[in-house]
Amino acid sequence: MNKQISFDDLCTIIDLTSSTMDNYMFVCDLVNHFHFYISKTATERFVFDNHDIEDFSKAISQFVYPDDLPALVQDMKESVLDPSKNSHNMIYRWLDKNNRPIWINCRGILVKDEKTRPLYLVGCINEIGVKPKADNVSGLLRDTSLLTYLNGVDNVHLEGYILRIGVDDLRGINARLGMEYGDRVLRIIAKCINNCLKNGECFYRIDGDEFIILNLHDPKIDNAILLFNSIQNEVESYMERNHYEVVFSVSCGILSSEDIEDYSYSNIMKLSEFALTQAKTHGKNTCSIFNRKKYQNSLKERALLIELRKAVDDNFRNFDIYYQPLYNQDHSIYGAEALLRFYSLEFGYVSPSIIIPILEETGLILPIGNWVIEKALTTCKNMQQYIPGFKVSINISYVQVLKIDIVKEFLSVMKELDLSPTNVIVELTESGYLESNYRHLQTWQRLKEAGISLALDDFGTGYANFHYLDELKPNIIKIDRSFVNRAMDNDFEYALLKNLSKLSKELDLNLCIEGIETKEECSKILQLKPTYCQGYYFGKPYPYDVFKQLYLGDLCMIK
Ligand code: C2E
Ligand code: MG
Ligand code: MG
Repeated sequence: MNKQISFDDLCTIIDLTSSTMDNYMFVCDLVNHFHFYISKTATERFVFDNHDIEDFSKAISQFVYPDDLPALVQDMKESVLDPSKNSHNMIYRWLDKNNRPIWINCRGILVKDEKTRPLYLVGCINEIGVKPKADNVSGLLRDTSLLTYLNGVDNVHLEGYILRIGVDDLRGINARLGMEYGDRVLRIIAKCINNCLKNGECFYRIDGDEFIILNLHDPKIDNAILLFNSIQNEVESYMERNHYEVVFSVSCGILSSEDIEDYSYSNIMKLSEFALTQAKTHGKNTCSIFNRKKYQNSLKERALLIELRKAVDDNFRNFDIYYQPLYNQDHSIYGAEALLRFYSLEFGYVSPSIIIPILEETGLILPIGNWVIEKALTTCKNMQQYIPGFKVSINISYVQVLKIDIVKEFLSVMKELDLSPTNVIVELTESGYLESNYRHLQTWQRLKEAGISLALDDFGTGYANFHYLDELKPNIIKIDRSFVNRAMDNDFEYALLKNLSKLSKELDLNLCIEGIETKEECSKILQLKPTYCQGYYFGKPYPYDVFKQLYLGDLCMIK
């Protein structure tokens, strides 16, 4: 090492070069109180404000992540004191401007005098957590470069479009054919896209399996769709030319400049991700144009989820259960269906058809489901004082069946309340799950063995397999209001309902027709002689106190 070079010379070199690099050069004077000098750009990134630090040994506790301090001190002692060592090379963490730990690799060499005494440690700090600016797989610039590009964009006069393209099921390709094959697919797609681009269109590789194309000078959204179609064609013809050696497709989310008020990187990524996710959920190999209303609904769902979580943590605050009366053929009440209600502080009452899917997706249905079971069974027990034999019908989600032992839950609450299983009905929605999923079948069987009645809810709305009526033998089939609606204005649908009613009698199953709203509907439905009826005509869902007042004693007979 050149021992004549001075500390000040090294500082000058650092000053001269700091703007030409992303990492940070430094020098530490080991003779004079560990005087530490680093590239000025480091002050924009790390917690310290001054790049000229008089005594490194005193200052390190302020900017080195506390957990890593003992190891650093030890390493410094060994590097500096051990004459056989010539360098320092350590990976540890510094604190950024927000006091968050940032991984760095600090590498330095020791400049020694003629007696091999160390004078300076000179080296470079590299942030090792940062993303590279380019991608060697696709040969494209990466999202970090997109960020730099967008930072320089003038928001006001832009008219154009952005396409976010994702490879469909790259994870599956990786799993089946290996990561290298997946990389090859990414390379091919990048090439196909490149072949379709015009001058002035920018193209970047985004994390994972995605790409972004920007054209900020063409206001015609139709051209964005045409571009995507040409990419699809290019991909297809590549596969054809290669005799379908690999088969893959792409989906695309499109943003137009009208949708973008703010061209910040984070906003563009947020909106384009939403559009691409829409395309993927619509079956893949397709494109979806950003829809602000749908996006706002998804934001509403997110806000609702936060509220739902808080409400669950806060002892089920703002949740309630309403009870809708269930009637026998002779117009006497035999029980009630327990229906979940949620009052949102931001949106008011929110329908269960909106909240149940959110609860299912997040697993919150598990604590809420248990809460419903406990509350509804308690209500059932209380109601028996007024209406002997009163039954409660409880909706159970497939997520509850898959994730917890609901039979155990029912049995333990029933035992605690001394409630007979003959007073309990469990409603499960008709779906392919019931027929094919082992856990569903097992739960169904165990509920039956426990003496609990089973109702097949929403019958006739989606998946309908008449075979399993005989195999599963539910105690009740519940016909959804949508079916009833259709049967009211359509002779064919009415005949279908009539035959279903006949079939259920032959199979010895009880039919409950839901959603009867008017007198006319009621008289037409009653001609089919269903075992049970339910609907606004008979009674709406009410809070427990109101239900109790309305349906006690004489009031429980519809006149
Ligand atoms: P579902 O189990 O089929 O419940 C019947 C739905 O029809 C209820 O809607 C009820 O208020 C409504 N309804 C009853 N009679 C009439 C009528 O005459 N006309 C009209 N237009 N509607 C009528 P709700 O309370 O909005 O619940 C919707 C769905 O949410 C339920 O359908 C059920 O699948 C689900 N759900 C409700 N509570 C729970 C719960 O605690 N757990 C689970 N997993 N799902 C629940
Ligand atoms: Mg139901
Ligand atoms: Mg139903």
